[in-house]
Amino acid sequence: MLKMNDVSKVYQTEMVQTHALRDFNLTVDEGEFIAVTGPSGSGKTTFLNIAGMLEPYTGGQYTLDGIDIGSLSDNQRADLRNQKIGFIFQGFNLIPDLNLYENVEVPLRYRGIKSAERKRRINECLEQVGLASRAKHLPQQLSGGQQQRVAIARALAGEPRFLLADEPTGNLDSLMARQVMELLEEINRNGATIVMVTHDAELARRAPRNIQIVDGQLADFTLYQGAPEPAR
Ligand code: ADP
Ligand code: ADP
Repeated sequence: MLKMNDVSKVYQTEMVQTHALRDFNLTVDEGEFIAVTGPSGSGKTTFLNIAGMLEPYTGGQYTLDGIDIGSLSDNQRADLRNQKIGFIFQGFNLIPDLNLYENVEVPLRYRGIKSAERKRRINECLEQVGLASRAKHLPQQLSGGQQQRVAIARALAGEPRFLLADEPTGNLDSLMARQVMELLEEINRNGATIVMVTHDAELARRAPRNIQIVDGQLADFTLYQGAPEPAR
């Protein structure tokens, strides 16, 4: 579904040129769950942002479901992103004075989805992350793990086929991190393709495919066959 051919990204500031990605090649198939690891500054976030069409690349070719992303207008790219992609970030990015229901609703309103359909999706997604009974609570009344589950519900409400997660467990203790990982595994079993950047080697090993980015390139790639190791 995703294919990057010799994709590069150069950040040019007045004095410095940074090659965040160099001739980066990767194919992600429908239904995969990939964990991305690598040293700080190696290009992981850049890769994820390009994959999510949040920022342009400076060389090579990126196709998503056969569509050449570089040939799209800004509006076409935004439409494609809304149709296909959901994002989860380390910092949850919930709006503090909106309750959980309203937080999940924001991107659906923005996309012009009608009220009855919004309600159906919000209830279904809050149910899936186990927070339906907390719909009227504010984010600050929840633990970090619960807040991340709301952020996941918000991403799921857009019915994305492709979920991009940047350090989704980076602010969570290990128990909550594992719960979030279990939720991502369930979402993947339900059909979504997931690419997750993480510093947590143990979580990464639970994903069926691991890739490593070093100096803006794919460094290593390991395929773990069969079921993930049992949780410890
Ligand atoms: P990682 O996510 O692996 O920590 P990043 O993708 O954030 O790495 O960064 C890759 C490289 O690109 C780093 O050297 C970083 O400093 C640089 N970089 C990232 N964003 C910018 C930017 N907006 N302007 C200039 N350099 C950037
Ligand atoms: P311009 O000012 O020419 O639009 P941009 O930096 O916006 O320059 O885009 C440079 C190239 O990258 C163009 O081919 C554009 O289509 C592509 N591009 C711009 N934004 C994105 C994005 N978010 N994702 C992928 N490609 C992009």
